Amino acid sequence: MTAEAVELLRTLIRNACVNDGTVGSGQEVRNAETLEAYLAGAGLAIERYMAAPGRVSLVTRIEGRDRRAPTLLLLGHTDVVPAEGAGWLHDPFAADLEDGLVWGRGAIDMLNLTATMAVACRRLATDGFRPTGTLIFAAVADEEASGAFGVAHLLDHHADAIRADYVITEAGGVPVPSREGPLLPLTIGEKGVSWRRLIVRGTAGHGALPFGADNALVTAAAVVQRLAAYRAPARILDVWRRTVEALDLHPLIAAALTDPERVLDAAAWLHNPGLARVIHACTHTTMSPNVVRGGTNVNVIPDRVVIDVDVRTLPGVTASDVDAMLRDALGDLADRVETSAPEFGEGSLSPFETPLGDALARTAAALVPGSRLVPQLAPGATDARHFRWRGVPAYGFGLHSPRIPYTEYPLMFHGDNERIDVESLRLSSLLWEQVARDFLA
Ligand SMILES: [Zn+2]
Repeated sequence: MTAEAVELLRTLIRNACVNDGTVGSGQEVRNAETLEAYLAGAGLAIERYMAAPGRVSLVTRIEGRDRRAPTLLLLGHTDVVPAEGAGWLHDPFAADLEDGLVWGRGAIDMLNLTATMAVACRRLATDGFRPTGTLIFAAVADEEASGAFGVAHLLDHHADAIRADYVITEAGGVPVPSREGPLLPLTIGEKGVSWRRLIVRGTAGHGALPFGADNALVTAAAVVQRLAAYRAPARILDVWRRTVEALDLHPLIAAALTDPERVLDAAAWLHNPGLARVIHACTHTTMSPNVVRGGTNVNVIPDRVVIDVDVRTLPGVTASDVDAMLRDALGDLADRVETSAPEFGEGSLSPFETPLGDALARTAAALVPGSRLVPQLAPGATDARHFRWRGVPAYGFGLHSPRIPYTEYPLMFHGDNERIDVESLRLSSLLWEQVARDFLA
């Protein structure tokens, strides 16, 4: 199984289904064909769904014997975000295997999990697995954009194909060491996405006469500074409190991490930039100004600058809450800015205590001795939100060896030098197989 997972992952990476948000990108048909060829040999029936040319998702299922028993959906995505090679030690699309590591874009987000889910399904099918409940495996396009050509398309047009009572997708299960054994984070919720476009206006003029000019770029620079300096008020959610409690920290640090007044100070004490980012993101609605467009010629004072801001909301924060935060951040510059909202999706949460959560805990403890699950909120968005919004519990999980420290994982998502170790692929392959056997028995 491990060798199959490694080779399947390497092929999926090399297929380079790079999604840059445009409809013509992604071309997940390549990964769908690879997976179909791999699964078809086991006698699984494969359905393909095309949302736009080349935007293909694949669904297969092992039908349960009892219609009343729960259906479990293993949900993997097949697209990846772009990768510029400059900061990489290996070509991001060569899928080099070296010293027990597979390198490449998608190695952790999330072709590793998609590949291991496929390997587990093939194994179960070859073994003649006849469960009570139904197992569905879906390998979907377009997760890295809105999901419009992937899971949202399926839910809108082919809902029966992926109708499930429980969903598992990315990401979690990266072991956090503690005195009482490894803690395995189970993602039970994620932040909302509330992108904003700010248009800053000024008055055009000659670049040779800047004195007293109303330069939109100069105003925009001040707007960007204020957004960067802004701190939304901290909110301590129950899921965050439970994450911190499980971490087995010094009681003073744990108390500070769950105190809205002191949480950022506590993050600084830990002297770990990756962890500090996660702590900040799990306790705050965040704003990151990431794109600026404006200006025409070097000799023309610009009258219009566009700033795109990536706003990520805690569950429970609404679009009008975001408007209020933006006004707060911009102060007297708020009147200089027109705001539009190209996307709003609220944050989402599933309960931690469910029959699937129990099955995952049992299976994980068998594969990673002494481990315990810890609920966590993910800063980024995944396809799980589409299910949680519909009231279907959806978790992010997987299993990982300690080889890549948990502090490095958050930096690798969409970052340089994405890689996964072979032992992690072995663990996740076994996880999916054994969870299916346990939960759907
Ligand atoms: Zn992903």
